[in-house]
Parts: sequence; C-alpha cells; structure tokens
Amino acid sequence: MYDLAIIGGGPAGSAAAVDASRKRLKTLFLTVATAEGGGQDFGGQSVVSADIQHWIGTVSVSGTDLAHALERHVRAYASDVVDVHTAEKVTGITKIDGGFSILTEASASYHTKTLLVATGSTRRKITVPGADIFEHKGIPYCASCDGPLFAGRDVVVLGGGNAAFETAAQLLAYAKSVTLLHRSEGYRADPVTVEKILANPKMTAITNAELLEIHGDKFVTDLSYKDKITGETRELKTGGIFVEIGLIPSTSFLEGVVKLNEYKQVVVDPKTQQTSVHGIWAAGDATDGLYHQNNIAAGDIAVNEIFQSLEPGGLFQHNGSTRDPATTVWRQVEQAVQTTLEATTLETLAAQVRDQIPSGVNHPFTFHI
Ligand SMILES: Cc1cc2nc3c(=O)[nH]c(=O)nc-3n(C[C@H](O)[C@H](O)[C@H](O)COP(=O)(O)OP(=O)(O)OC[C@H]3O[C@@H](n4cnc5c(N)ncnc54)[C@H](O)[C@@H]3O)c2cc1C
Repeated sequence: MYDLAIIGGGPAGSAAAVDASRKRLKTLFLTVATAEGGGQDFGGQSVVSADIQHWIGTVSVSGTDLAHALERHVRAYASDVVDVHTAEKVTGITKIDGGFSILTEASASYHTKTLLVATGSTRRKITVPGADIFEHKGIPYCASCDGPLFAGRDVVVLGGGNAAFETAAQLLAYAKSVTLLHRSEGYRADPVTVEKILANPKMTAITNAELLEIHGDKFVTDLSYKDKITGETRELKTGGIFVEIGLIPSTSFLEGVVKLNEYKQVVVDPKTQQTSVHGIWAAGDATDGLYHQNNIAAGDIAVNEIFQSLEPGGLFQHNGSTRDPATTVWRQVEQAVQTTLEATTLETLAAQVRDQIPSGVNHPFTFHI
C-alpha cells in the first residue's frame, strides 16, 4: 500500500510529487494528458499557452517547455520513492480498510493510505463555427495569462458571470476597448461588480446576444451574433475574444466520494487543503479555491498536511475535522503522550498530557480518569 497517491500531472500534482519525494513518502503518481495537451501527460491546462509570463523565476516560458520542466523536476526527485505512471486516467475511488482503492481506465487498481486530487479543470468551450480554427489565434481562455498580449486592441469578453466581469476588469488595464457579449438579459455577476465595471468609459455591454460565428484569417478579425430581441444578425470587429462561460472541474470520478460544490469543485479547507473525507486532500484548479493559476496551484500546501497525518506514532489523527490555530499545541500534546507512554499509571499520563495544554485553548480531548 502506498503512503500517498497523487492524481494529476499539472503544476499542483507535480509540485506535490517533488515535495512527497523529499519527505520520503512512498508515492504513486498518476497522470494523463488533457484533451488539448498534445499527448503531454505533464503540464496540465497551460500546455497550450504560447507564452506564460508569470511562472515565478522564469521570465517567459511556453506551455510545452513548462510541461517538460515539470516532468524533469518530478523524475529528478522520484528515485525509488515516487512511482510515476503516465497515460493512466483515474476513473474511481473507493474506501478500503486503512485507505483507498484507486481504479484506472485500464482497469488497474492501486491501494493507498492517503490521496491528493490535483486533476485541475477544463474550460467550457464555445462550439460555434470558427471557434476551433481560431482557438489560441485570438481566442484565449485565460485573461490573467494572455491579457497583456492584447494591449491596445478592441477585445470581446463572452459571458455574464463574475468570471466574465473579472476578465473584463483585467482587460480594461491593457485593451483599447472591452465589449461584454452576454446571451441573456441579466447578469449572474454581483451587482456591485457589474455597476463598477460597466461604468468604465472603455466598456460596452451587449445583452441578449447569441454568438453565431467567428471570422478571421490567421487571427480573429470579427464575429457575428444574433440579436435575440430583434432577430437581426450583427457583426462586431474585434482583435480578441476571451471566453468566460465556465469551467468544468475534472472531478467526475469523485462524485459521491468527497463533497463537491455546485460547480463540481472539490470543497477543501483553505488552511489545510483537506476535503470532507479524512485521508483525501485536493489542490489546484480542481478545488473551490477562489483563484486559479499555475503559481497558486503549485503553491498548495497539502503534502505538508499529508506528511503530518502519516507521521509514525502520531497518536491523534485528525478525524477529518478542520484544525484550528492551536495546531502546534496539538503537536505538543501528541509529543507529550508519546514521551509519557511508559508512565506507570493512567493518572500520571493524563496529568502530564493535561499540563501540556495551555489554559484557555480549546482542544478535542476528553480525559477520563
Ligand atoms: C489556455 C490556458 C492558458 C493558461 N495560461 C496560464 C498562464 O499563463 N499562467 C497561469 O498562471 N495560469 C494559466 N492558466 C491557468 C493554469 O493553467 C491553471 O491554473 C493550472 O494549470 C492549474 O494547475 P492544476 O495542476 O491544478 O491542474 P491542471 O493544470 O488542469 O492539471 C491537471 C492534470 O491532471 C490530469 N488529470 C485530470 N483528470 C485526471 C484523471 N482522472 N486521472 C489522471 N489524471 C487526470 C490532467 O490531464 C492534467 O494533466 C491557463 C489556463 C488555460 C486553460
């Protein structure tokens, strides 16, 4: 049985694998290429990016080079500790005694004490004619990543939720103008945000607009949409179309296993990355974290928590509950219990444990003497 199984080879899973190796956790690492990933099992969603400019420590890197760098990094530290399995898609998780069983598409099954889900998400895409031709040729899917490349242009944002308005807000810093094209009358975004963004003089909003087609030559030049009120078809010139019509987290294999929110993101404790199930953690874009980017995904802290939970002799496992800031006190208590296990009587033991807890600190222990 593995100590840890990491699912997903994007920035979150790769960073966790390096960390797990350094902590000498016997780890299984399973990943598969994303649909757009050109067969690359490492790198995750931004494999398709031409130019990533804020992967910290690197001035500019293509998605492909980032994928290779992540793979090199994981394999350099894997040694005999991390078993790297590429082209293995996880299809199911079940609880077993002392851990979890993982089932893959190829019908392999593995057993692990703990699990880190780092399966990211895929962007909901537009399917109108031209969308496939101009994807990444004027149709980017990430404003914080690609926004600066569209400086000085007239750009369009598709969508009407918070993500669309946030994207519009980011683009207003670079673009000549931003037009928000939304298929309904009302917006799903917060009214305060809507009011603030639409008040910007560089902003135009078009509602009740059904996108029909995207045109261009080497790069997007314009789009057509149907005005749903009048039924007319209209043309709109644009130098870029940012699509913010939703994300699809890659979490279907977790349905009924851990708590997912309404968007199918894994609900985690932001301090510990722990899911609703003791023994399963999640990191990166698959989670309900507020912001999703490469650096954020790679910076997740789950492996530290997993390491602590697996500590040999750790008498008090954390019951899947959210731990409070008294974590360090818990550790002192665990330590105290271990060093006093040979105490002659239960009374002595209890007294020693109790003495380790500073007064006024809430703790989960009951002392029966
Ligand atoms: C086009 C595009 C460009 C972007 N550009 C940037 C950028 O410039 N800068 C930036 O900071 N962020 C960028 N982002 C966002 C960034 O890519 C994500 O925030 C980041 O990739 C999230 O990392 P992750 O490891 O959580 O998930 P992902 O990168 O999504 O990686 C998840 C991995 O898990 C694998 N996987 C999924 N399901 C399974 C399964 N069942 N079994 C096994 N493996 C599975 C996937 O195939 C994938 O390899 C971009 C996103 C997109 C879509």
